[in-house]
Amino acid sequence: IQWEKQIRHSAQIHRSNGMSVLVTGAAGFVGSHVSLALKKRGDGVVGIDNFNKYYDPSLKRARKSLLNNQGIFIVEGDINDARLIAKLFDTVAFTHVMHLAAQAGVRYAMENPHSYVHSNIAGLVTLLEACKSANPQPSVVWASSSSVYGLNEKVPFSETDRTDQPASLYAATKKAGEEITHTYNHIYGLSITGLRFFTVYGPWGRPDMAYFSFTRNILQGKPITVYRGKDRADLARDFTFIDDIVKGCVGSLDTSGKSTGSGGKKRGPAPYRIFNLGNTSPVTVPTLVSILERHLKVKAKRKFVDMPGNGDVPFTHANISLAQRELGYKPTTDLATGLKKFVKWYLSYYGYNHGKDVN
Ligand code: NAD
Repeated sequence: IQWEKQIRHSAQIHRSNGMSVLVTGAAGFVGSHVSLALKKRGDGVVGIDNFNKYYDPSLKRARKSLLNNQGIFIVEGDINDARLIAKLFDTVAFTHVMHLAAQAGVRYAMENPHSYVHSNIAGLVTLLEACKSANPQPSVVWASSSSVYGLNEKVPFSETDRTDQPASLYAATKKAGEEITHTYNHIYGLSITGLRFFTVYGPWGRPDMAYFSFTRNILQGKPITVYRGKDRADLARDFTFIDDIVKGCVGSLDTSGKSTGSGGKKRGPAPYRIFNLGNTSPVTVPTLVSILERHLKVKAKRKFVDMPGNGDVPFTHANISLAQRELGYKPTTDLATGLKKFVKWYLSYYGYNHGKDVN
């Protein structure tokens, strides 16, 4: 009863026409930011996360406290637990599901292939089954990935480009997720929006990602490994700042039509949408390192290594005109500005200089 009370309380809406959103992966990087943004404007938010040990669980716990302090309750559990998910839907009539729980990372798949199948495929299906049976059905917005473009060499990537050459098992499970969600859309009328995020970075980010581990190593005086592609070409990524991604997520939730209108009236076929959420300005990895050196005021010890064939792609670059048109999505933070905010957070979180401004 206590549990249900906490969940109902967390799901309470504090603005007119607000939504109550189930955020999966709420203790994760993107999930914690999206949850806070929704709560801040008065939407109801309930999180779920299994706090797995893919990266430092204490960082997930710290994000959880941050959310708890804002009145957001995070259920500790796995999205594969059908009974738990059913109980959540019995307790709250969620209007939206923001599905961000996943096994992320491309290299980890070499040793742990099944964790990708578990979270990104089986878990997705468990969640969609619950959404399908819920009354009213929630609109689902979920994180796909730019990795679905795989070895596609035509840049920038548009949503209609080919996605049949995944370079990693991670990418393959995200591509599978797009097919699975599409099926639930046309068979069961679920409203679905898939978001292809492009390399998201920022405060409270993921320690397994390059910008984060480079920062750690540079500060500790350890060498960093910079991968190079074919003919020693630099790798490049369309790094996208977390606040821009959050705006894209919230915009997607706001525009995701429900399959039944208010009063239960059918509003026609439920939408199935896919959007790129990127920054449209790729930056090479060596440039990323130089920016970090500048912000940290420490020289990096670079070790250049040929990219091993383990799932990385040479470059990513988003065409975002569709998201711009349909969601009003407009990224505003360039890499230097975003990394400055990340470094400031990093130094303060890990106790380097207790939040003093970093230039
Ligand atoms: P993250 O790992 O920080 O967050 C995912 C969260 O989901 C974690 O807290 C994890 O504990 C939880 N989780 C994993 N499996 C679960 C399960 N079976 N049940 C319950 N909880 C589970 O990753 P993130 O960077 O915040 O990514 C969010 C989403 O965006 C993911 O779907 C990811 O694949 C996608 N994505 C991220 C990026 C990026 O650059 N960060 C890029 C493309 C796509």
